[in-house]
Amino acid sequence: MIEKEFELNEQTLSVVEEMGGHMPGGFFIYRAEEPEELIYANKPVFDIFGCSSMEEFRALTGWTFRGMVHPDDYDRISGSILEQISSDDEHMDYAEYRIIRKDGVIRWVDDYGHFLETKGHGGIYTVFISDITEKHERIRSHIEGHKETIKALSETIQKSKQERIAFSRVAQALARDYICIYVVEPDTDEFVEYSSLEEYDQFGLEKKGGDFFNLSRKNMERLIYPEDRERILAVFTKDRVMSILERDGIFTAKYRLMFEEGPRYISMKATLFDDEDSRHLIIGINNIDAQIKRERDYQKKIAEVKNRAKNDFLANMSHDIRTPMNAIVGYTSIANSHLDDPEIVRDSLEKIGSASHFLLSLINDVLDMSKIESGKMQLSMGECDLSSVLHRIEDITSIQARTRSLNISYDQSRMKNFHVWADEMRIEQILVNIVSNAIKYTPRGKEVDLIAEELGRQEDGRNRYRFTIRDTGIGISEDYLPYIFDSFSREQNTKTNRIQGTGLGLAITAQIVELMGGSISVKSKVGEGSEFTVVLDLESRTPAGARTDEAPRKIGEGLQGQRILLVEDNDVNAEIATMILSQYGVVSERAENGRVCLDTIRQKEEGYYGAVLMDLQMPEMNGYDAAEAIRKTGGDYFARIPIIAMSANAYDEDVRRCLEAGMNDHVAKPFKPEILISRLEKYIGEGK
Ligand code: ADP
Repeated sequence: MIEKEFELNEQTLSVVEEMGGHMPGGFFIYRAEEPEELIYANKPVFDIFGCSSMEEFRALTGWTFRGMVHPDDYDRISGSILEQISSDDEHMDYAEYRIIRKDGVIRWVDDYGHFLETKGHGGIYTVFISDITEKHERIRSHIEGHKETIKALSETIQKSKQERIAFSRVAQALARDYICIYVVEPDTDEFVEYSSLEEYDQFGLEKKGGDFFNLSRKNMERLIYPEDRERILAVFTKDRVMSILERDGIFTAKYRLMFEEGPRYISMKATLFDDEDSRHLIIGINNIDAQIKRERDYQKKIAEVKNRAKNDFLANMSHDIRTPMNAIVGYTSIANSHLDDPEIVRDSLEKIGSASHFLLSLINDVLDMSKIESGKMQLSMGECDLSSVLHRIEDITSIQARTRSLNISYDQSRMKNFHVWADEMRIEQILVNIVSNAIKYTPRGKEVDLIAEELGRQEDGRNRYRFTIRDTGIGISEDYLPYIFDSFSREQNTKTNRIQGTGLGLAITAQIVELMGGSISVKSKVGEGSEFTVVLDLESRTPAGARTDEAPRKIGEGLQGQRILLVEDNDVNAEIATMILSQYGVVSERAENGRVCLDTIRQKEEGYYGAVLMDLQMPEMNGYDAAEAIRKTGGDYFARIPIIAMSANAYDEDVRRCLEAGMNDHVAKPFKPEILISRLEKYIGEGK
């Protein structure tokens, strides 16, 4: 059985692209959800649309399915596709519609679609498409050219003088494209059948007669593959077929017939044909077994790829989690058995610290990756001060560089406008990732540079910024370079093998850059070093109350003597936060939950606390409710006191909920001391 839930993600999409590139016919994938955005289309699709490149095709169709279909045909077929996939166990559909090529010429295509639920993209359609204009023209001209014959034919049938019907040339012509054709008179249910293939004769079906629908249903009971029987019999009644035809102009069904060699897929297509005074129902039966098999093979391959990707992922994860966990467990027990030797205890703690740091970054990376893949990663746009971003990066990375005896330099001499509208945290994440890599993959004593430059105003009014991170490290081989932004990819060589990493950092970095509409590139030579370049176009902002020409301050300086209310139910967390705060001269008082927080803050005189650090999940009253209640207390102090959430609920939705509840900001737990302190400083102390 083919699995319905297919994981279409970075890894599998590249395989889909690879397969799509080798397919002879048109193949594309689009999201079921409005606006039906395309995920992939292969080159034959561009050819069908008369486009010579992806860019042309994008411009022509807006990269949506709707944009591919002739506007006059869209409503008809989109209704029919929905109806088909919901009535078909395999979620397959068939449609014929017009498209408008780049040169303005209208062409007919057929569309064999398949609906799938995926984790990454929700409902998607995979579609095989081909140009059937010539075939269509042929059928149409046959019908047009033989209108008289059809009319005569139907009159004859209506007069119940079927023996007088010569072998109709129309039906004969039509039958060339089908195994067999039925011409039915809806008023009387009389019919004539023409078959072009002898294989269909094996069923011994009536060639003409009356009571078409009932007779067909009786034959269907006998000939349709048992699994498909009920489904088809439920729709194939005269009333259903006619009402679908009235609405959509076409009725299609797909099912298996029991041929002597075994069941084979058959498609039935019915249309109404009007001549001056009466209408005829024309039903074509076709063998689509090969087509379905092709689709099946493709689905099977996808399922295999999916499985492989999943296994790789699990193997990677279990290795990457086990390694630091081993270190944590091992060094804890070493420290425990050497409590009287401070040297060993210190050394063990250091190793536990670095392993837990790695574990945390792994968890954050996996969360980011899953957010990106499910399309949930969103930018939190706001006022962003690039100079403080660069300072923080300097704070973090200069320590890393020092411990590895590297020379690191920061150059922002070509920056003028630091205030922009952007997601400050994500910009920091991008740069910290790349600089940390440069430090990680550069041997002791060598150089790392971070250069931030402003390149000037773009046509759309935004400023272009370029960040260059250059190192004189081990470099990246030409073979690996094309895969450097793939998730879980790491260069396999003796040097990198000894350096801890998951191969997720750059994948995430590249995705965030893309989300920001920017670009990232890399140049490298083994043994000489690497250069990563990130280019971002950002909107300038003049911040309210901006201070300029200010000497950089040390982080936490403005917090001395501030008093804050720490709302936290967990003793360990409270102790950690209290210790960190006290190192920066901040006095903290603790409330065990939202209710205690409310009582305390209302009892003290106004202005007593400089800020509230708020946990979110707590007994009695949670952080959201407490923050809301503080804001509703009334008066300037309660309306303005900075409330910063401190929580392990670190998804964007959680952050949004915090802001909605009236909090000013959110710091994810566990936090780096500098992050908490710089965030506090942003709202109180001098940074206020
Ligand atoms: P990792 O967690 O392995 O560092 P990344 O996605 O950040 O994962 O990087 C992927 C791979 O790219 C690394 O494993 C390494 O092989 C290579 N790489 C990244 N940056 C550099 C660099 N500055 N110099 C050399 N190799 C690098």
